[in-house]
Amino acid sequence: MFNLNKAFYLYQTQSFTGTELPAKTLCLTFDDGPGKHTADIARFLYENNIQATFFVVGKYAYHHPDILQQLKEMDHLVGNHTYEHPDIPYYVSVDGNIIDQVVRTDAVIKPYVTSNRVYFRAPYGKWSPEVAHELNRSILTANHIGPIFWEVAGIDCYYWQNNWPAEEAAARYLTDIEQQGRGIVVFHDEIADMDVVKPRNKTLELLKILVPQLLERGYQFVSLDEIPSIKETSTEKPTFTLRSKGGKRVSLKNKIELYAVGQAGNLQNLLTLEELGYGKVAIKAANNLYLSTAGETNNLTASAVEMNATETFDLIPVNATTIMLRCTNGFYVAIEKNGKLSSSAQFMRQAAIFSYANHNLAVKNSISLMKRFSLLKKRLLFVKSKLQQKISQ
Ligand SMILES: [Zn+2]
Repeated sequence: MFNLNKAFYLYQTQSFTGTELPAKTLCLTFDDGPGKHTADIARFLYENNIQATFFVVGKYAYHHPDILQQLKEMDHLVGNHTYEHPDIPYYVSVDGNIIDQVVRTDAVIKPYVTSNRVYFRAPYGKWSPEVAHELNRSILTANHIGPIFWEVAGIDCYYWQNNWPAEEAAARYLTDIEQQGRGIVVFHDEIADMDVVKPRNKTLELLKILVPQLLERGYQFVSLDEIPSIKETSTEKPTFTLRSKGGKRVSLKNKIELYAVGQAGNLQNLLTLEELGYGKVAIKAANNLYLSTAGETNNLTASAVEMNATETFDLIPVNATTIMLRCTNGFYVAIEKNGKLSSSAQFMRQAAIFSYANHNLAVKNSISLMKRFSLLKKRLLFVKSKLQQKISQ
């Protein structure tokens, strides 16, 4: 039985929160940017010694690498808030590709992500166990952690929508914060959905009023990676298994050789991944040594203590859950007749296609059939209520 309290290094079925923070401790987060106020907000926080997290929308981030660079230089964290800001549970229910939303955003933000994982926040905080499951299927999101929820909601955008002065909005935030006493606070440095409200964004003015009041009342600020349940996961390495077309797992044999002959549940099957950018990865086997070709064709072993060029591979996704690996000499990783892995495939058509499975997910697998059934029932009720609404209109 897995430990419910143990936070795994993957997408959780339940969001992370800041309730375990000590009293009067806040973690400030900003959603929906980057936009025209982002750099000024970041600088104001930096000058007040506050390290914030900016959950950026991929399509805006794509056009503002300069702002992402400034966030990085000011020691703020950059997180993933999808590419187009969809309502994810609905988006997934109509066959929307959430992995693509997240991976495209990653491609833009990766150079500015300073931690060894990518923090994720779902638009509107909308989430479901099915979404977590969907995202955990892909090796491309294996170093992600989330979703990150909050204690104090980011309703600043509704204040701006209703033309509130910054003073009143700041007073409301202060009341909400005092009520909670601690936790993750959300603001909007930009507003993803309501274009008409964007020019009315006064979140910078709000912060200039609120932050001094909070400091005066003895509040302290911590960064997202200091949230206890998140911090705990930083020691966890995301582990995974690869399976051949024949259904056998890649497993360590004879100390350094790899064979696609393993059965499920064998610790010798476990692999860990290091992302190196531009689709390059290094992989460690269960012996804690890197997979290496040592620059030779047809030689693939888990034998390298250090990572050099011959220990890196191009990770080529075939679909959400399957991959191919290409070695630095252009040969692909293949499976020989006896099951041994080698770097002998000269052409892609000879390459082995491996199925990826997140090992932590296999351990956790917490969504029972009954839960799935009740979720389906809920969804049907939701559809029914919508239909009835239409009829009564
Ligand atoms: Zn958002």
